Amino acid sequence: MSVISILPVATFQRRTFSGPTEARCFDTEHGTHALLVDGSRVYDVPADFESRLNEAAQRGPAAERGLLASLGLLGDPAIDAPLAPPVVNALALAVSEHCNLACGYCYADGGSFGANAPKHMNWDVARRAVDDLLARVPAGGSASLAFLGGEPLLNRDVLRRATLHAATLAAERGVSMRFSITTNATVLNADDAAFLAQHAFNVTVSIDGERELHDALRPTRGGGGSYERIVARLGPLLGSDLRVSARLTVTPRHTALRATLEHLMALGFHSVGFSPSLSSRDPALQLSAGELDALLTQMIECANEFERRIVKGDPYPFSNMLAALQELHRGTHRPLPCGAGAGYLGVSADGAYSACHRFVGDPRAAMGDLDHGIDDAARERWLASRHVDTQEPCRSCWARYLCGGGCHHEVLNRGRVACDFIRGWLAHALAAYVRIAEQRPDYFR
Ligand code: SF4
Ligand code: SF4
Repeated sequence: MSVISILPVATFQRRTFSGPTEARCFDTEHGTHALLVDGSRVYDVPADFESRLNEAAQRGPAAERGLLASLGLLGDPAIDAPLAPPVVNALALAVSEHCNLACGYCYADGGSFGANAPKHMNWDVARRAVDDLLARVPAGGSASLAFLGGEPLLNRDVLRRATLHAATLAAERGVSMRFSITTNATVLNADDAAFLAQHAFNVTVSIDGERELHDALRPTRGGGGSYERIVARLGPLLGSDLRVSARLTVTPRHTALRATLEHLMALGFHSVGFSPSLSSRDPALQLSAGELDALLTQMIECANEFERRIVKGDPYPFSNMLAALQELHRGTHRPLPCGAGAGYLGVSADGAYSACHRFVGDPRAAMGDLDHGIDDAARERWLASRHVDTQEPCRSCWARYLCGGGCHHEVLNRGRVACDFIRGWLAHALAAYVRIAEQRPDYFR
């Protein structure tokens, strides 16, 4: 039986079928398709494939794999387990464990990560972290340094010295160096923008939408709004060569996301992305199951507009959709949601390593410190215990190698409350991927 149809554009992934835990079927106006979970491959399938897969699934994953193997669709497993800790080539420096805003949902507890007093990283800690990072990366490799907080520009001297030091060392060692910053932009000045542009930073500005909504969610410590301050400071950033993204934390108060998305695009951001508030300091600002359903509806409305515009050839920089399509086209398959504890670590103001920037000071994800070095045994334990194939209910979820099991920080703090939302979003993205591939075959080139 021939089940694979050949797509008109050879650069696309093969499209065929799939099933309950090893594959997932879906329909579009272009036919029936399936995601093959291992390797995230998308296929065209005959209409009866879903029933055959469902029948096999009732007998268990081995029967599903048997069906896939019988059709020549089962290769070597794409996911390694256990994972050996890779070289750490990315650090996030918490140069400022302090913030001038008081966002109610902040994972960093207003920048201080639960500490009694705000802290700034001193130059010696920053220099040693950069030295450590670049000592591990071989010539010809790449490394990245991210600045997050708190608000990193509250410690701009150390941020700049660390950047210059890393750029110099990387050039001497033949390492390609990338920089990024996530900022609330309230203290950013023209000189900062020029510095960030000179070092080709990826810049993400945290902003929560229109003035009233943003000011309610991201007030200053004095209680005033921060929207006007941010917008007044965007000019030099957006007028430079930098790619500047807006990141919006979606709370239950966001009920008109498409208008909010287009408001942020109109401000001039090169891309705009949404991040659901799942684990908030103020529980009223984290999304419930019902609110996540409503969010999915709103996200799909934004995605449908994205699709309409892309098919017409107009840009619509909705980064959640851009990222989903890119990952599907690449065939991304991963056993973890991100690089936390793998190639990426956070560094606290006092020089402690943690799995990522959100786990500063959190013993659940401590990974050594600058005095004693990176704790590779802790990383190994982390990678083994966080592997999606060892997590329930992830190990039998069709979305496992696209999702990776969800942000560790959110899952450890709140549990897996967003699974239906994640699967609903991926299901929509899969169908959109096929539709765009059919209508704009040049889009993925
Ligand atoms: S976190 Fe939820 S959606 Fe993601 S792999 Fe696990 S079960 Fe699936
Ligand atoms: S654990 Fe969560 S916050 Fe940390 S890097 Fe991963 S996705 Fe991001």
